[in-house]
Amino acid sequence: MSDIYSTNPRTLGRGICIITGASKGFGRALAHTVSHLLKPGSVLLLVARSENLLQELQKELQSFTEQQQLVVHYIAVDLSTREGVNETVRVAKQEAVNEIDHVLLINNAASLGNISRFASFTDLEEVNSYLSLNVSSALALTAGILQVFPCRPDLRWTVVNVSSIFALQALPSMVVYCTAKAARKMMFQVLAEEEPNVKVLSYSPGPMDTEMQKDILRLTGINYHPFPCQESAAKLMKLLLDNDFPSGAHLDFFKV
Ligand code: NAP
Repeated sequence: MSDIYSTNPRTLGRGICIITGASKGFGRALAHTVSHLLKPGSVLLLVARSENLLQELQKELQSFTEQQQLVVHYIAVDLSTREGVNETVRVAKQEAVNEIDHVLLINNAASLGNISRFASFTDLEEVNSYLSLNVSSALALTAGILQVFPCRPDLRWTVVNVSSIFALQALPSMVVYCTAKAARKMMFQVLAEEEPNVKVLSYSPGPMDTEMQKDILRLTGINYHPFPCQESAAKLMKLLLDNDFPSGAHLDFFKV
């Protein structure tokens, strides 16, 4: 795979890594990438709704993870619901007995939402439902995992918020997507201010060849010329391995 595996002897430690939206697209690529960088005894938790895709991913990772003594669990839940968030926290808690030195939470799950003009969003329930997955669940899940693994000096703690250029840039007909990404950016900046022992990174991964990107092309006609998810995943991993970004930073694939 990427250069980082062959040339970088560093690792992410003996960690627990939780990836939301791991069944497809960027999250799935991240699961592959992270699995090569965790030390033996680490735990990888893969979260999304599609149980069959998560099962398939677990199998894909199996031969390598067995050899690396890496435990991989999947959690098939809807993160827009209280049950989904609570179940993810519950499973993470079961792993808290293991000796780990790094908690890495990657808040990646998201949806595009309705691509429509501002004036069409009259349905409060539709808006709330969108924000429930794309804003509230990232807050409630991160808070839950922070409680399961309280900060201590010998524990590295990293939270990644998978962001977008649209956290910074307004795009017509993308009001819910832009709003959610902007809210998440601020949410994780507050976490960085509050918790000096938690390293927080908002990472804008650039246009990638995923279902979400296909939907953007189909619904808007805009071709952002996506590239493979693995390229962006490798860049994010390099940022985490170097670990020299300021906590709370919002970094873009094209600028790092
Ligand atoms: P994607 O292909 O649509 O995948 C989204 C992931 O989120 C899937 O694994 C999906 O799994 C999961 N998910 C969606 N709704 C969920 C729910 N209610 N509960 C639990 N999991 C849910 O998207 P992607 O393109 O990989 O995007 C990943 C991240 O990158 C997102 O945060 C996106 O905003 C960001 N991003 C993407 C691009 C791009 O060009 N693709 C550009 C900039 C930023 P299930 O359907 O199985 O639940």
